[in-house]
Amino acid sequence: MNLASTAIGYPYIGGNREWKRSVEAFWKGTTSEEEFIFDMKTLRLNQLKHQQSLGLEIITVGDFTIYDRMLDLATMFGMIPARYKWSDKKVNLTTYYAMARGAGNVVASEMTKWFNTNYHYIVPEYEGQQLKLTQNYLLDYFLEAKFELGIITKPTIIGPYTFVHLSKGYDSKSKASFILKLLPLYAQVLQQLVDAGAQWIPMEEPALVLSLAPEEIKLVQQIYKQLAEEVPAAKLMLQTYFEGLPAYEELIQLPVAGFGLDFIHGADENMASLRKYGFPQDKVLGIGIINGRDIWRANLAEKTMMTKAILSLSGVNEAWIQSSCSLQHVPVTTKSEKKLDGKLLNALSFADEKIVELSHITSFISDEKWSGRNSVSQSMTAIQALEEHEARKNPRVKELLSQVRQEHFTRPMPFNERQPLQQAALQLPDFPTTTIGSFPQSDLVKRTRSAWRKKEISDTEYAEFVKNESARWIQIQEDIDLDVFVHGEFERTDMVEYFGEKLSGFAFTEKAWVVSYGSRCVKPPIIYGDVEWTSPMTVKETAEAQLLTSKHVKGMLTGPITILNWSFVRDDLSREMVANQIALALKEEIQALENAGIAIIQVDEPALREGLPLRKEDWNDYLSWAVNAFKLATSSVRNETQIHTHMCYCEFNNFIEPIRALDADVISIETSRSHGELIQSLKHNPYELGIGLGVYDIHSPRVPSVEEIDTILKESLEIIPKEQFWVNPDCGLKTRHEDETIASLKNMVTAARKLRQQYQQMVF
Ligand code: GLN
Ligand code: ZN
Repeated sequence: MNLASTAIGYPYIGGNREWKRSVEAFWKGTTSEEEFIFDMKTLRLNQLKHQQSLGLEIITVGDFTIYDRMLDLATMFGMIPARYKWSDKKVNLTTYYAMARGAGNVVASEMTKWFNTNYHYIVPEYEGQQLKLTQNYLLDYFLEAKFELGIITKPTIIGPYTFVHLSKGYDSKSKASFILKLLPLYAQVLQQLVDAGAQWIPMEEPALVLSLAPEEIKLVQQIYKQLAEEVPAAKLMLQTYFEGLPAYEELIQLPVAGFGLDFIHGADENMASLRKYGFPQDKVLGIGIINGRDIWRANLAEKTMMTKAILSLSGVNEAWIQSSCSLQHVPVTTKSEKKLDGKLLNALSFADEKIVELSHITSFISDEKWSGRNSVSQSMTAIQALEEHEARKNPRVKELLSQVRQEHFTRPMPFNERQPLQQAALQLPDFPTTTIGSFPQSDLVKRTRSAWRKKEISDTEYAEFVKNESARWIQIQEDIDLDVFVHGEFERTDMVEYFGEKLSGFAFTEKAWVVSYGSRCVKPPIIYGDVEWTSPMTVKETAEAQLLTSKHVKGMLTGPITILNWSFVRDDLSREMVANQIALALKEEIQALENAGIAIIQVDEPALREGLPLRKEDWNDYLSWAVNAFKLATSSVRNETQIHTHMCYCEFNNFIEPIRALDADVISIETSRSHGELIQSLKHNPYELGIGLGVYDIHSPRVPSVEEIDTILKESLEIIPKEQFWVNPDCGLKTRHEDETIASLKNMVTAARKLRQQYQQMVF
């Protein structure tokens, strides 16, 4: 049996985010282009050497990028939209980064989620232009590794089906001609790699895990037939991940040399296919056995057994033992963490540790000597110690969960009955104006927080500062004459971290960064224990602000699903159970806010939609427990208490139904970028609860005019009746400057007031 360990990809940011620093220094102009290119090359080569030193046998290139791999391909194929005025043969860095980030008046390409991960890629735009190979960067990376390090790597490339599937600018008619133009370029890239001595070339085709229509399956067959004919010498590894392969029977016989399957997220489906259809004996099987999406240490005994079972089911004599997907979705190494609870730390596994796990499994199976037997028992002891951790045995959480009844998921009164009660209690004008929660986090706010974190100022001084900043903004809101106020969220950096730090069961790392998009990295909290509310988290700030005004101050919380989806989550409980624990904790916070006299409470769920599973047939299951968690948190308030929610960063098409199911009295929605679409879908799916369509885009420093806002309001009024209508910006204002924020909100209030007057004249 011929086994080798390999990873589908490795995080390029570096353990200390060296990559990010280098890229941003180049953007700022503090390093020259030559220095930047040199830095990138150094990082790249160091990462290859490092993976080799960890024991990985087949090393990958092409997983590295200077911004995004989809963008790398688009530029490699000369797929540059006309607005960038590109004419050279080689795409220079100026054009490349203009596509990524915009330049002057030229807007950037769109960015969207990479399947169901939190990584966002640049969407390639096909404009029917002449495509050509501008530069084979994979060849560069391959040769670099070969000559500088003497390593024959496998250059990995996103395959044509997935590339086209994720691009835009074609329809069903032009799709074939698009692919037809693209395939010779792929063939050229492959041929050059083969000529340079490449043996294996992975073609990453995650789009194959979606449910493909018969004509799509045919298309995939044609693509790979053509590539096999054009470059017969290329040993292609067709790599799938993120789910099982539904069209296994039709695709497994493709003329490629190997097939990589995900035995984590697609374990059941792929195992069933292996059993039913077997595996072609002339191909190499890539066994994705170590989870590339989570941060938990693997039970090596279990993994080894499962790998053996897969090997015997498939009957192959050559296989790769690999991660389920690229390791770019996990942080670099647990070795950087110095402050974590010992039992937790010991049960974690980031990219480096996962590579070591892969090489252990490979050697256990290959030499049967169990030379690293210790690592098997160590992994089991570590996992067991975390399982028995007292943080996972919280009796109060258990008790609260056991008391949950069906009625706790619904408000006692339907919306149409509680609405008049709320109106009587709150006394809001027509077209009430409000904001989404945060006000500008000025340099002073950031500096003061960081001084407090470094213990340069005391808790009291910091609290005093936050209180004053909030008081200042209450006055500003009075001046602007908004109807529903917020305290401004000056005490928060991040909407998940803030709550995680106050709830039990969460841990925060020092360096566990992962890329969200471009050079933006996030450091998700780890939910490792039972989540419990122990003391009020937002009551002091909200109640203090409420004392300063006769207007209502909205309480402001992050919802259970957003907290869940933006964290790394324990794997010993279902996500539904963890969501319910968070919901119960938020429910206590909501109760505390109500007791403090807060009459309007907003529970943000910007991440509800992004948690949707890849395949449509799995959506309902997720939505039902996710919506339930929100309702568990929010349903036990008084009828008079108004629950708001907020969503952004998402397409709302096909999403009105789940939004309605939340039964929130008011939702504010980001729409300025897809206003028309949302209006259309609301036309087809009338919505009965309170709703505020964002009336201006907070992502831009531009101050919208009264007329502009007026136009948007009038458009929205055609589909949303006056009784449901709210007026607000489309998201929180923390990234904006104070003067533009005030100017924009004044215009918004003026527009709302005009509308109110026009309505009164119509009625009387
Ligand atoms: N209340 C949050 C804020 O205003 C909402 C942030 C978000 O939607 N992502 O900042
Ligand atoms: Zn938002």
